[in-house]
Amino acid sequence: EVYLSTKNLSFTYPDGTHALKNITLEIKKARKVAIIGPNGAGKSTLFSHFNGLTEATSGTIELDGETMKYDKKSLLEVRQKVGIVFQDPNDQLFAPTVKEDVAFGPMNLGLSYEEVEKRVDEALEMVEMIEFKDKTPHHLSGGQQKRVAIAGIIAMRPEIMILDEPTAGLDPAGVEKVLTILNNLNKEGMTIVISSHDIEMVNEFADEIFVLSNGEIIANGDKHEIFSDK
Ligand code: ADP
Ligand code: ADP
Repeated sequence: EVYLSTKNLSFTYPDGTHALKNITLEIKKARKVAIIGPNGAGKSTLFSHFNGLTEATSGTIELDGETMKYDKKSLLEVRQKVGIVFQDPNDQLFAPTVKEDVAFGPMNLGLSYEEVEKRVDEALEMVEMIEFKDKTPHHLSGGQQKRVAIAGIIAMRPEIMILDEPTAGLDPAGVEKVLTILNNLNKEGMTIVISSHDIEMVNEFADEIFVLSNGEIIANGDKHEIFSDK
């Protein structure tokens, strides 16, 4: 069952850069998907289309059976379904304490105080950061910050989580922790999409891989199809 798909998606920045060229892809429900490709390939631009932050120059996106629309009400629905974790936690963490940071998203969903508190605790337990709930995010290590940023998205209970370079800059233990979290979320049925240029990690983690180069999908398949020597 396809959860998120694009059809002939193209995007050109105002300065004329053709960042995405005719991208057609399908992401199936509850899969672990990786988009790989060098810097500048278009991964971040593609991701910002997945939650409606950027509107395609041409082409369409389908999310959960519906063509994406860009009015305020439709975008609110999209952002409840699609959670995005940015590459740099500093783009995401800005509250004075960890628990307030994680509470920010669910509070904006208009949930009750009790429900927000419950979700914050659950999410922080899941990423093993509960004992840091009253600490300042900026005093944490990079790996800890990454896990807090992920907790903030978990607490919104999205159906699909998109993570831009989730393991970049982490030590091996930090990478393992993040992958364990993502695998656990996936086991509960969440669709996970990551971007990375860490081939070894992707080979271990992903069910399905798309190779993006220069704004185009140049290969797609499971890890055997993508990484085996031909
Ligand atoms: P990746 O995430 O794979 O590194 P990006 O999506 O960031 O790739 O970039 C794709 C292309 O679009 C690159 O050529 C990049 O230089 C260009 N680009 C990214 N952001 C902008 C922008 N705001 N204005 C113009 N060009 C941009
Ligand atoms: P309630 O307490 O009313 O049952 P929840 O807080 O458990 O509601 O869930 C709220 C919404 O989030 C529901 O639509 C539920 O389907 C969804 N949801 C709950 N857990 C997850 C999860 N792990 N991944 C994705 N969506 C979830």
